[in-house]
Amino acid sequence: MQNVVIVGASLAGVRAAETLRSGGFTGSITMVGDEKHMPYDRPPLSKNYLAGEWEEDRVALRKPEVIQELNLTWKLGVGATSLNIETKSITLADGSSISYDGLIIATGGVVRSLPNQPQIDGVHVLRTLDHATALRAQISEGTQAVVIGAGFIGLEAAATAHKRGAHVTVLEGLEAPLIRALGAQMGAAIGAVHERNGVTVRCGVQVASINGTSHVESITLGNGEVIPADVVIVGIGVSPATQWCESSGLTIRDGIVCDANLNAGPREVFAAGDVLRWPNELFADVESDMRVEHWTNAAEQGAHAAKNLLATFAGEELVPYVAVPFFWSDQFDARIQCLGRPSANATVDIVDGDLESGKFCAIYSVNNRLTAVLGVSKPKLVMPSRALLSQHTTRDEALAHFQKVVEAQAAASQTPPSAS
Ligand code: FAD
Ligand code: NAP
Repeated sequence: MQNVVIVGASLAGVRAAETLRSGGFTGSITMVGDEKHMPYDRPPLSKNYLAGEWEEDRVALRKPEVIQELNLTWKLGVGATSLNIETKSITLADGSSISYDGLIIATGGVVRSLPNQPQIDGVHVLRTLDHATALRAQISEGTQAVVIGAGFIGLEAAATAHKRGAHVTVLEGLEAPLIRALGAQMGAAIGAVHERNGVTVRCGVQVASINGTSHVESITLGNGEVIPADVVIVGIGVSPATQWCESSGLTIRDGIVCDANLNAGPREVFAAGDVLRWPNELFADVESDMRVEHWTNAAEQGAHAAKNLLATFAGEELVPYVAVPFFWSDQFDARIQCLGRPSANATVDIVDGDLESGKFCAIYSVNNRLTAVLGVSKPKLVMPSRALLSQHTTRDEALAHFQKVVEAQAAASQTPPSAS
């Protein structure tokens, strides 16, 4: 009987385990996770859970009875510390080791800290349930909260902290929020949503130090200005969690380098989620490989890696993972949705709405090829455009398409229901 080990007991890992079982795998499956909690979902940690609207039971990825049915062996609170691909074994932090016939690596990302980040009360990062629990206990009416980094974590946490009555200032080094993710123009438009709601967004500023003795008191900027702070949230990105397998011989370059089938080199080793990069055939003309740090990608890749591992066991042909990446982000009443690969160097056209109203749809093109569709509170335009992105649509074709769709939507909204 074969045995599979999944390292990383979170979204991609759980999806992999479920897919192995639904695909008929009856051997043993061991889930190794360095967090002590049963698998939970991260998106609510910066939203409903941080807001105090949800409790821990609502962030569980699966109900206990569903987990029970999967018949998994759990090794929680004990991380993998090394991987030997010759002997097909993994060493754990408690000194024990596990061997495998099949391995799925789903270790996600490790949250980054500032080089001079002091270990004092009130200074937070936000990646895990424990981080979110510690942070939410310190945010209430009147809290002076300073967020460092205007990425997804920083902006979502800023919106939630503001909703809880905190006075929030966001500090970003570049000239607009979300530049790397969405480019300067769209990043600024999302920053404006925050400003309209009462968050102070300061771009182009450097943090010189975080000050305080036992509890944080202030932040000093590069220009000497001091900003008072009761709470500081550092949201400056994550690095792929590959340190534990760096000496294994797997190829690692800002993530585990996989082939199109999510295979990591040895025929029985696959990876899934935030931790890997792979050549996505749909975008091969614009990016040789990509790493995606969003929910849908982790869920889909967990399932896909498991299917390909089963195909390997069965001696069947592997299937490449080809996808239009997707993410959403909720900030105040703005629902941001994005399909494809937005980038700072793309040409951006607004195809519906306007930046001032905070409701718009924009398309991204590189070399006259549509690469992404971004909507802020425009769900009817974003989600149906998946097919355009998977068909190598040109910018001109996309502009014509959206013009037609927007006109049709406008006409429909003016037609009295009885006439339709
Ligand atoms: P992870 O969820 O990072 O899980 C990896 C697991 O592996 C972790 O539990 C980690 O502790 C464990 N691990 C790491 N190293 C080891 C080791 N050596 N041994 C054992 N275990 C190990 N995406 C969206 O699209 N929309 C959203 O609104 C959204 N909101 C988010 C809000 C927050 C606060 C965060 C943190 C993320 C959010 N994301 C969102 C991103 C999304 O949650 C991630 O892309 C997703 O969780 C990645 O899943 P994963 O399983 O690949 O990795
Ligand atoms: P992120 O989106 O990569 O943003 C990091 C931000 O921090 C960027 O604005 C970055 O700006 C800035 N930064 C980096 N180094 C800095 C430094 N030394 N000083 C000040 N600012 C610095 O990462 P994140 O917001 O921390 O999110 C972490 C992870 O969670 C990501 O994987 C993200 O995708 C995921 N997440 C996703 C969602 C979602 O999809 N809705 C929501 C929350 C979290 P520069 O460009 O200047 O480096």
